[in-house]
Amino acid sequence: MHNAAIEALDIDYIYVPFHVMPENLGKAVEGIRALEIAGVNVTIPHKERIIEYLDEASDYSMQIRSVNTVINENGRLRGDTTDGPGFVRSAEAAWGKLDGCRVLILGAGGSAKAVSFALARIGCQVTIANRTRERAVELAEGLKAVFGKGVPEVVGLRVEELADVIRETDMVVNTTSVGMHPDVDGIPLPPDLLYPNLLVYDLVYNPAKTRLVSEAESRGAMAMTGLKMLVYQGAISFEMWTGREAPVDVMEKAAVRALHNKD
Ligand code: NAP
Repeated sequence: MHNAAIEALDIDYIYVPFHVMPENLGKAVEGIRALEIAGVNVTIPHKERIIEYLDEASDYSMQIRSVNTVINENGRLRGDTTDGPGFVRSAEAAWGKLDGCRVLILGAGGSAKAVSFALARIGCQVTIANRTRERAVELAEGLKAVFGKGVPEVVGLRVEELADVIRETDMVVNTTSVGMHPDVDGIPLPPDLLYPNLLVYDLVYNPAKTRLVSEAESRGAMAMTGLKMLVYQGAISFEMWTGREAPVDVMEKAAVRALHNKD
């Protein structure tokens, strides 16, 4: 999707993959400076450990201890993370401003952290529901330590617990891997809890339409899959490197082609 955007804007860049083994991370980062690479994306397992090799990192990426984008400013390497902002920007592009909304987050892993911190930053009230309670508590305490507005509520995935929370919720975000290919019949919450006009954002982007999104739509909720987040986090990185507005539609089409092999 980056190369499609580069082609559409006719600018002199190329986006290529580098396979970096953990023991070579420091040397790879040195290579960014030596080769004068404009910037890189970083993915698992390097998102946290790369921070020690950078000159600086944004407050947000330090809060969640995760960098997915490095920008090379004349040899000075700055880290940032666009996962959470990509989530917020894609949701707001579809549904309007989210400031202050009440959000139920299913899951407490890496993407839950990125999303919950990005939402807390714009004043949303977050509740976390996770299979492993301790992980949810840890995330809630991390949010409180940074935003200091009381510990976000933590609940389990049992129907009674979710039913109480979901009635008082504007948006549900699935950050678990439930429903991801090949578990395409999986759904992270009982579908009968979904209701008209609820916003449902499933971070899973494979299959193209998850069971959660289908069930939500059939009950009159507004729903989307993680493809938009994937595209927008990429678009924000692209803008950081090139200083140009990303052609989001072009990037989305390219992502759909690559993921689902269709136009
Ligand atoms: P992660 O750190 O491994 O966290 C996985 C989460 O899923 C944990 O909360 C885990 O609960 C929960 N989980 C896993 N299997 C479960 C099950 N059978 N029942 C209930 N909960 C279950 O993973 P991640 O990096 O956050 O990624 C999660 C999903 O988000 C993946 O599908 C990934 O593809 C997607 N994602 C999408 C984007 C995007 O741009 N759209 C970006 C990042 C991630 P426990 O704590 O109990 O284990």
